[in-house]
Amino acid sequence: MPIPIRSCIACRKRENFSELLRVVRVGNQVLPDEGRRKFGRGAWLHQRCFDVAKERRSFQRAFRTDENLSTEPLEKYLNN
Ligand SMILES: [Zn+2]
Repeated sequence: MPIPIRSCIACRKRENFSELLRVVRVGNQVLPDEGRRKFGRGAWLHQRCFDVAKERRSFQRAFRTDENLSTEPLEKYLNN
């Protein structure tokens, strides 16, 4: 079975998906999707790339919106 490959939305590096965290957009929030089963458009990133992603507005790009997305839930999750 081929291993699914995804790109990190911040550094663009292609990676075995198990190395990346899946996040989803729910309303205007970006939520971690630990089980990788949540519905909706997903985006993938290295946990270490979160700050870069936030700075570069990679989440807006990934979810194709100009709206401000709250990354607070994701930030809390990563800081735990
Ligand atoms: Zn990355």
